[in-house]
Amino acid sequence: MLGKLAKLLRMCGFDAEYYKAGLNPETIKNFKDAERTILTRNLKFQKYRGPVPIFFPDNDDPLIQLKIVLTKFHLHDQIRFLSRCMECNEEIRPVEKEAVRGKVPFYVFDNHDTFFQCPKCERIYWEGTHVEKMKEKLQRALG
Ligand SMILES: [Zn+2]
Repeated sequence: MLGKLAKLLRMCGFDAEYYKAGLNPETIKNFKDAERTILTRNLKFQKYRGPVPIFFPDNDDPLIQLKIVLTKFHLHDQIRFLSRCMECNEEIRPVEKEAVRGKVPFYVFDNHDTFFQCPKCERIYWEGTHVEKMKEKLQRALG
C-alpha cells in the first residue's frame, strides 16, 4: 500500500498514478501503456519479469520511501512543489485571486495572492503554512 507515497510524490510535482486495486493484469497494462515504473511493496512480484520496470521501496515510513525513490531515480533536482494535485495527480493551474473568493477561508484569501486549482477536482492550492511545513518535513527527511 503506497497511497501515501503517491501523494508525497505528487506534492513534489511528480506524475504518480495510484491503483487501489494493486497489481493485476489490467493495472500492469496501464503502467506499460503509460511507460511508468511500478512501485510496490507486494513481494509476490519480486519474481516479476515482465515488460514494466519495477521497484520495491523497502521501508514502512512514507517519507523514507520518498527519499529512497528520489535517490534511486535521481529526482532531487526535479522537485516542483505546488504543481500537481495531491488527490488526483492532475497538474494544477494558476487561477485569478477573484475566482477563489468564497472558496477558501477568509484569512487565506486576505493573506495570499497566488492560487492554483486542480482542473479535475477543483481543489484550490496556495503557498501557505501547510506547504511550508511539508517542505520543512521533506527537507529534514531528505537531508
Ligand atoms: Zn484534483
